[in-house]
Amino acid sequence: MPNPLLAPWTTPFALPPFAEIRDEQFGPAIEAGLEEARRAIAAIADNPEAPSFANTIEALELAEETLDRVAGVFYNLAGADSNAAREALQRELAPKMSAFSSEIVNNRSLFRRIETLWQGREALDLSPEQERVLMLYRRMFVRSGAELEGAEAEKLTAVKARLAVLGTTFSQNLLADERDWTMALAEEDLEGLPDFVIETARAAGAERGAGGPVVTLNRSLIVPFLQFSPRRELRRRAYEAWVARGANGNASDNRAVAAEILALRSERAQLLGYPDFASYKLETEMAKRPEAVRELLLRVWAPAKARAEADRAVLEAMMHRDGINGDLEPWDWRYYSEKRRAAEFDLDEAALKPYLPLERMIEAAFDCARRLFGLEFRPLDVPLYHPDVRAWEVTRGGRHMAVFLGDYFARSSKRSGAWCSTMRGQRKLGGEVRPIVVNVCNFAKGEPALLSWDDARTLFHEFGHALHQMLSDVTYGYISGTSVARDFVELPSQLYEHWLEVPEVLEAHARHWQTGAPMPPEMRERLLAASTYDQGFATVEFISSAMVDLAFHEGAPPADPMAKQAEVLEGLGMPKAIRMRHATPHFAHVFSGDGYSAGYYSYMWSEVMDADAFAAFEEAGGAFDPEMARKLERHVLSAGGSEEAEALYTAFRGRMPGVEALLRGRGLLLDAA
Ligand SMILES: [Zn+2]
Repeated sequence: MPNPLLAPWTTPFALPPFAEIRDEQFGPAIEAGLEEARRAIAAIADNPEAPSFANTIEALELAEETLDRVAGVFYNLAGADSNAAREALQRELAPKMSAFSSEIVNNRSLFRRIETLWQGREALDLSPEQERVLMLYRRMFVRSGAELEGAEAEKLTAVKARLAVLGTTFSQNLLADERDWTMALAEEDLEGLPDFVIETARAAGAERGAGGPVVTLNRSLIVPFLQFSPRRELRRRAYEAWVARGANGNASDNRAVAAEILALRSERAQLLGYPDFASYKLETEMAKRPEAVRELLLRVWAPAKARAEADRAVLEAMMHRDGINGDLEPWDWRYYSEKRRAAEFDLDEAALKPYLPLERMIEAAFDCARRLFGLEFRPLDVPLYHPDVRAWEVTRGGRHMAVFLGDYFARSSKRSGAWCSTMRGQRKLGGEVRPIVVNVCNFAKGEPALLSWDDARTLFHEFGHALHQMLSDVTYGYISGTSVARDFVELPSQLYEHWLEVPEVLEAHARHWQTGAPMPPEMRERLLAASTYDQGFATVEFISSAMVDLAFHEGAPPADPMAKQAEVLEGLGMPKAIRMRHATPHFAHVFSGDGYSAGYYSYMWSEVMDADAFAAFEEAGGAFDPEMARKLERHVLSAGGSEEAEALYTAFRGRMPGVEALLRGRGLLLDAA
């Protein structure tokens, strides 16, 4: 029987034939895809004809067609609906897929063809999109070391291998320190803790055979313990152990590991021709230069610090009223902040949820997309990969735009979190291909399913990513949809969250599932006010971490990262009652791998942009201003990576993002508060 993954898909919209696919067919289909891709790439590299854009770049774009088609299905299922067979195949494929990618970037004749095209690009009569795709291909090869020869190439390979080992060591050390520490709680130490914290502490104690409840260094236990325990001495002990992770002078100490990682990253960047690692890392980002990152962070820093200092005074006065003299310490902040939150901004989640039924929130996300971009959603009755998954056809003016799949409920076969992926991306090369886009969430099932406010935000967030894919309108798959810089990719998603907060959207869609009544205005106001609560603290702990990350990767690598960290914090004038969100010895974002190294800033960069972008709508005449919606689609949602993110944003907004909207949104402007 032929493998349905490899046969043409004659299903509606060429959806994967889920009803026919069996797990044992994925392995052979991916192997066949890899083989086909290898043959196609070898034919491109060894082509006796002179390189042209069509016989090199366009041929590369189409070389992995079968592989992309099959892998697009497999990796979606492996994340959203795994089982033993899929997990085993995933493990088996990991080294094969990474070997395949290295083969491509290490293919000398292929790189020579690309380099020839790049050097002669003026004579090629390329469209701007083609020139950009050529530049991106070349850059990918160069950044992987394609220009290096002999000893330098060997050195780069050795540095990369050592960095991979050190990244794993860093994570494992951190895990060891988190595992080894516990603090036993006597029954009277449970005073003041909510039931869910007591249950978690008892479960943690039972798991470790401690004979009673314990506090561990797991964020989901220690943070609520610090928020709720009235026992200051216990808070202090737990807090100090928490911030000492990776710096205990034992076998799992991470300080020397961090120093070696920074030195090797610097060496890697220099081998590739960059002055330092930050320049190498930021080259592909919207920010481009370390100075741009620093400037943005510092514009937010001063108001955030002022807000935090004002909050500290309030919290310290609360502590003094409790009969405790002296300064508010870092282990006191969360406790008094929680008390203040409960008194001033308490939100009854149980009373809120009936106003946020999943069905209505899906409808809200669709309705905003209809009003902004003219999209229509029609339920599709087709076989899918799990009974909980739903499908819609997305059209505009009768034209097919995409298939959208919503996989909303938690189940044991799904990994945690929420994400947007595609089973097929958009492109026009070789015939118009419209995307199949998936949103995966982990909402609790119920009759009916009711969301928390965070859940509803997540739904809008992932739907914003989905719009970036569904509205994509480029020729080359390499730059379609969300194939953009890391510090730009969260713009559509975070921006879309703003529509959930628009009063007329809440009025229309946040309605009680039984009575249909709109959310009471008082509840709505509390809800929106709660989102700015304690943002001075959150911003200070974030920016201090981001500034240390940046300083580590600029110029010569620090011989003593802890001394460098102290120097940066001193320079910032770090408030005494707040510490970095992640100090160096446990800063996994930066040291467990390359992902967020010299990139931790990007969370805030994106937030500055989404606040500024939404402000553009408000300034222009409201959340549904048609002219702004048109610009957003034209310059951001349909454009993929067809231009530099800076150029796309500037075309949409008329200027680069300013920080004012973020400061307002986070409640950091003292006068306005
Ligand atoms: Zn996101």
